[in-house]
Amino acid sequence: MTIDSHANRFVCDLVAYEPGKPIDETARELGLDPSQIVKVASNENPLGPSPLAKAAMREALEDAHIYPDGGGFRLRGAIADSLGFSRENVVLGNGSNEIIELLCHTFLNGRTELIAAEHAFVVYKLMATLFGAGYVEVPDPGFIHDLDAMADAITGKTRLVFIANPNNPTGTMVDQQAIDRFMDRLPEHVIAVFDEAYIEFPDHPPDTLRYVREGRNVCVLRTFSKIHGLAALRVGYGIAPAHLAGLLQKARQPFNVNAIAQAGALAAMRDSQHMSQTRELNRQGLAFYEKALAERGLEYVPSHANFILLKTGEGDHVFREMLKQGVIIRAMSGYKLPDWVRVSIGTHAQNLRCLEVLDDVLAARLAAC
Ligand SMILES: *Cc1c(COP(=O)(O)O)cnc(C)c1O
Repeated sequence: MTIDSHANRFVCDLVAYEPGKPIDETARELGLDPSQIVKVASNENPLGPSPLAKAAMREALEDAHIYPDGGGFRLRGAIADSLGFSRENVVLGNGSNEIIELLCHTFLNGRTELIAAEHAFVVYKLMATLFGAGYVEVPDPGFIHDLDAMADAITGKTRLVFIANPNNPTGTMVDQQAIDRFMDRLPEHVIAVFDEAYIEFPDHPPDTLRYVREGRNVCVLRTFSKIHGLAALRVGYGIAPAHLAGLLQKARQPFNVNAIAQAGALAAMRDSQHMSQTRELNRQGLAFYEKALAERGLEYVPSHANFILLKTGEGDHVFREMLKQGVIIRAMSGYKLPDWVRVSIGTHAQNLRCLEVLDDVLAARLAAC
């Protein structure tokens, strides 16, 4: 008998999250220089961090011997100001992933359920499992969350409904009307969680913050990992009515967001130029891929985010073959989409290289059969 038999069953049963393959690891395996690797696997910002954030983080290093502000006073204040809330509405997380965990900590147990869409971000399922809760998966025809069906799926056991908007890995977005209809039906014992990690990319995103203002059971998740290019720092936040935000505050560790991350995030928020450059580069990159994929007759899902889901057939094979040529993409078998891959929008040079290697791999596969 090993100690495993005493471990929490939900932990033993968990299939761990598989992140995008790291650049260094790939370079080592291929005997290449890391600078030759193109990583378009994790929806990172191809422009890197905002220069203002880098400067602020260098300065913050001087005080690395001091514990961070556990209350995140300045950053929470700046986020609240920028969105028209007060500090009490903002919870900081070690990435917005941590806010997902705090929500589950606060509301889930073996007698409750979490609802998400069939092709939603996998972390929701991981977290529901970790907390021993039921995971209810609602079909999403055309890869778009079906909010009416998600509302139909609510029972007395439901505590959290996750709506990723735009969703990862599909890049699809639900509109204001669908959200309003859903909110009209949301019962008092359920919290709607709008995960808006990519909300800065679409031109006309729906407004969910209005429901936080109205004091509804809503938590909106945002992150510094995507448009702000600070994925390595692990900083994100939730916006919720004060009583709900207060509960989440109790569930977190005292210093969950480090001081360098707080300084970087604060500066990044003020760098509107870096944000608009990122958005513009992404717009061009998406247009480039949509045209190229259409020319090749490859099916793809029109995206509102900074990545694109495309159907190549045999996603694991395409991933492995592209990896051999130094291009890291993401296979989607973990999302029950074995024929699809997800490609993050890179710089123009990265997009060209990625497409070139994709063409090569697909041509080789054709030649082999
Ligand atoms: C990337 C992403 C996040 C953000 O994760 P962080 O922990 O903030 O880095 C959250 N939700 C979705 C759907 C994402 O794709």
